[in-house]
Amino acid sequence: MSASDTGVVLKSKLPKVGTTIFTRMSKLAEEYKAINLSQGFPEFDCSPELQHLLGKYVGSGKNQYAPMAGILPLREAISEKVYNASALTYHPETEITITSGATEALYVAISTVVHLGDEVIVFEPAYDSYVPAIEMNGGIPVFVTLSPLYDEIDWNQVASRFSEKTRAVIINTPHNPTGKVWSKEDLKALGELAQKHDVIVISDEVYEHIIFDEHLHVSASSIPALAERTFICGSFGKTFHITGWKVGYCLAPKLLTEEFRKIHQYVVFSVNTPAQFAISEYLSEPAHYLELSAFYEAKRDLFVQAIEGTGLVVKPSEGSFFQNVYYGDLSEEHDLALAERLTREAGVASIPLSSFYYSNSDYRVLRFCFAKNDDTLYKGAELLRQVKW
Ligand code: PMP
Ligand code: GLN
Repeated sequence: MSASDTGVVLKSKLPKVGTTIFTRMSKLAEEYKAINLSQGFPEFDCSPELQHLLGKYVGSGKNQYAPMAGILPLREAISEKVYNASALTYHPETEITITSGATEALYVAISTVVHLGDEVIVFEPAYDSYVPAIEMNGGIPVFVTLSPLYDEIDWNQVASRFSEKTRAVIINTPHNPTGKVWSKEDLKALGELAQKHDVIVISDEVYEHIIFDEHLHVSASSIPALAERTFICGSFGKTFHITGWKVGYCLAPKLLTEEFRKIHQYVVFSVNTPAQFAISEYLSEPAHYLELSAFYEAKRDLFVQAIEGTGLVVKPSEGSFFQNVYYGDLSEEHDLALAERLTREAGVASIPLSSFYYSNSDYRVLRFCFAKNDDTLYKGAELLRQVKW
C-alpha cells in the first residue's frame, strides 16, 4: 500500500495552477539536452570572494536563527545603498526586513494588504507569482494588458481600472518578461493615481542593477507620492548571481513594515544567517553591484547580434536578463507549442510569453534568458539559425 491509496480528497486553493512554466521548460531542456535559455538564472557562479565570506561566517558560529527582521548590519548596508540611489532614508530598525528572496517579500506584502474581495491592479504580462498570491488571499486581480513589445503605458486605461474595491497595484521595473524599464513620468503618473485612490503599491525591483543603454532605474522610493505607500521588494539573487541563496528584502514605511512583519514572522520567522552576514560584508564595495549592468549589456548585445538574420524580430531589452523575440513573420505556431518543439527538435529552450498572461494570450513572442555563458549564447543562437520554420 502506498501513502496515496487513502482516498483522501483535498479542495484545492489554486485549482487552475500547475507546475510553473520555468520548472517545466528547464525539465524539458534537461530531458532533450537542449541549450537552456528558458528559466531565468545565471549559468555562472558567484564570486570567489562571496563564496569565501559565506564559508567564513559558517565557520565562525553564525549558524543559529537570525533576528526576525534580519541582521542589523545587512539592514544598515541596504539603507545606505538605497539612500545613495534615491536620497531617501529607510530606517534599518523599522523600515527594512530581510526576506527569503523577493518571492517571500512579494507574497507577504500581498498578504499584508489584500482582504477578501479586494481588487489588485496587475500589469500583464506579469511575473507568475503575483496572481496566485492575490487569489490565495481572496483578492481579485484586475489586469492592465500590454503587448510584450509595448512602447508606452496608456495611463487613461490604467485610471479606468480603479474602482471602490481597488486595494493595491503591483508593478515591476525593470520588467520580467518584457525587459521594459519604467520612466520617471510613468512612476509619477502611478503615484498620482495611487494617492487619489488611496491604494498601496507593491513594487518588484529585483532587476534594479541590470539596466542598459541610456536607461536609469527609477525606484518607487524616489517618488514621494509612492514612497509613502509602497512595499519595495528586492533580491540579492539577481545582483550577486546567488539565486539559490534566497535572500531578498522589503522596504516600506514604518506602519506598513509593522504589519508586514506580523506575517513574515509566521511564514519563515527569519532568513539564512551566514548568508546575511556574507552579503552585508560584500555590499560594502558598491562596484559589486554597479558593474552588473555593463556585464549583462554585453551579453544582451552578443545574443541580439548572434540572432541577426534569423528573421526573428528583436527590440533590444532595456533591462533584466531577458530578451523577447517576435516570430510571427516566420510561423503561425502557438508560442507554447513552438517553445516545446524548439526545445525537442532544435535543442534550444525558451519561455512562451503566453504564460505571463492570465488568459494565455499568444502574441507570437518567446523569451530568451541571456544570463548565460557567452559560449552557451553563441550555441543557442546558432541552433536558432538552423530552425526550419
Ligand atoms: N520577481 C521577478 C520579476 C523575478 O523575475 C523573480 C525571479 N526571477 C522574482 C521576483 C523572485 O526573486 P527571488 O528569486 O529573490 O525569490
Ligand atoms: N524568475 C525566473 C524567471 O523568470 C524563474 C524563477 C523560478 O523558477 N521560479 O525565469
